[in-house]
Amino acid sequence: MDGLVPPRTADITYETDEPVLYKTDGPVAWVIMNRPSFNNAQNSQMTYALDDAFQRAVNDDAIKVIVLAGEGKHFSAGHDIGTPGRDVNKTFERRLMWPDHTNKPAAEMLYTREHEVYLGMCRRWRDIPKPTIAAVQGACVAGGLMLAWICDIIVATEDAFFQDPVIRMGIPGVEYFAHAFELPPRIAKEFLLFGDRMSAERAHHFGMVNRLTTREQLNETVQEMALKLAEKPRRGLWLTKQAVNHVEELRGKRTAMDAAYHMHHFAHAQNDLATGNMLGGQDAKSMAAANKKAAGES
Ligand code: ZN
Repeated sequence: MDGLVPPRTADITYETDEPVLYKTDGPVAWVIMNRPSFNNAQNSQMTYALDDAFQRAVNDDAIKVIVLAGEGKHFSAGHDIGTPGRDVNKTFERRLMWPDHTNKPAAEMLYTREHEVYLGMCRRWRDIPKPTIAAVQGACVAGGLMLAWICDIIVATEDAFFQDPVIRMGIPGVEYFAHAFELPPRIAKEFLLFGDRMSAERAHHFGMVNRLTTREQLNETVQEMALKLAEKPRRGLWLTKQAVNHVEELRGKRTAMDAAYHMHHFAHAQNDLATGNMLGGQDAKSMAAANKKAAGES
């Protein structure tokens, strides 16, 4: 009656043992996504490594500011929905108070998993008690948005773009549903309904990006800003970011996300019932091809 199923298994080939790099530069920790050959697609291996890296930076009292960056051409193409390292069916030691997902039947599997690795982890990182800066170049798509959005400050290159195209899967936005907090509601609707790319310049115009820079200047600009923050008192930095985060909570960020998360999972479940695939038959290739076509690149 407890409705468990034999744990799922999958062939997983990781291309690296280091999906996240950790470097320090003075009082600044650089947490760098390191799957450049897959445009930093986020598998669980990377998610848990990110969590380790953030924890390390939090534990180190010499670190005052944390930078989240991506190795290679793109910040992040989103969640891993099609590399050989896709590890949706793998068990990891959980960081939050959720059970294992791999032995849960039907829609409960993804519902449980995404509570941990997407919604839960992102909320946890957003509350890191040190200021965080995202250094964004190239694509920042779907799950990539979540990683940029959990940071306090976003610096983007002029050629960066932001996009959440999951409407193509019949899904109302990624799990960490911050769209209407990051953008004015009408623009958030446009962003989600069309699912098109938003240029860094437009994102900057709406306040989703703090500063624009060039690829050549990205790391330098971010390090400079981080050092400036590092001059401020540690406790002041923590309390100040908490204060603003709390204002967002008073505006309903958490409850809005909870509501959207359940719509998101209704969509995953409906996809599975209707098509036998929780992503509505889409994969990394079909999504990338459609995104390129919509952007006039093919
Ligand atoms: Zn999902």
